Amino acid sequence: MTMRTVYVNGEYLPEDEAKISIFDRGFLMSDGVYEVTSVLGGKLIDFESHKIRLARSLSEMSMIQPAAFDDLLEIHRELVARNDIGDGLIYLQVTRGNPGDRDFHYPPADTPPTVVLFTQAKPDLVDSPLAKRGARVIAVPDMRWGRRDIKTVQLLYPSMAKMMAQQAGADDAWMVEDGYVTEGTSNNAYIVKDGRIVTRALSNDILHGITRAAVLRFAREAQMEVEERSFTLDEALNADEAFFTSASGFVTPVVEIDGEKMGDGAPGPVAKRLREIYLEESLKSAI
Ligand code: PMP
Repeated sequence: MTMRTVYVNGEYLPEDEAKISIFDRGFLMSDGVYEVTSVLGGKLIDFESHKIRLARSLSEMSMIQPAAFDDLLEIHRELVARNDIGDGLIYLQVTRGNPGDRDFHYPPADTPPTVVLFTQAKPDLVDSPLAKRGARVIAVPDMRWGRRDIKTVQLLYPSMAKMMAQQAGADDAWMVEDGYVTEGTSNNAYIVKDGRIVTRALSNDILHGITRAAVLRFAREAQMEVEERSFTLDEALNADEAFFTSASGFVTPVVEIDGEKMGDGAPGPVAKRLREIYLEESLKSAI
């Protein structure tokens, strides 16, 4: 891979010159929040919504907004330009910064947050082989903490669940709590039954997906029926279709859950249509 230019605390640097402290709270305590914004044709998808969610995550964690907060659009655009990103994504992370030592207590409120952004080029984001084939998922128990609505960088369990999926020959895992599907390891989960789109309602149990909000809005505008309620793993296994959404996966059809084929085992019509609508509509408002 060619050397990227990344952003660290106000500076644009070659990736191998970018450094943060070993005392950084993000490193020692997973004390940080993040966002992933997709880039299509060099433009940012749903940028404002990601910025609003970042502000909420910071506030829920009692973290101050970094000085760079108001410049985030400019920084994103600069990174897209400097790294010549056509299709891809931008990762942004803000941590509680470097208190100069290890301590469970939060550092003084005026400790500057650490801000890191970098790009990832993904030439096949739109023509994704996974979206074409449809994903196979397995069900795993949801063993995460109780504030999944905050987009924190403590991603160890989702990472473990992805590895469990890989070991089972699947593409991803859906997490289940009290018999109900919460969400995917890095995406929101949906089923389709008798033409109705069903996805879990927003609460502290799941991340409030930016793609979820957009897809549900587009679905309703297209007169599709949407039910925001919890569904069981059993319901999912008996659904006509399933899919998941995320900033980098858009709408991805699910064709198999725990080895059981959904319908005929091919991506379903509702998921395929929603993917098309989502791509078309979000490109219109890309900035
Ligand atoms: N749920 C979880 C647990 C996630 O990690 C993500 C993506 N980071 C999502 C849902 C999807 O959110 P978005 O559409 O904002 O990418």
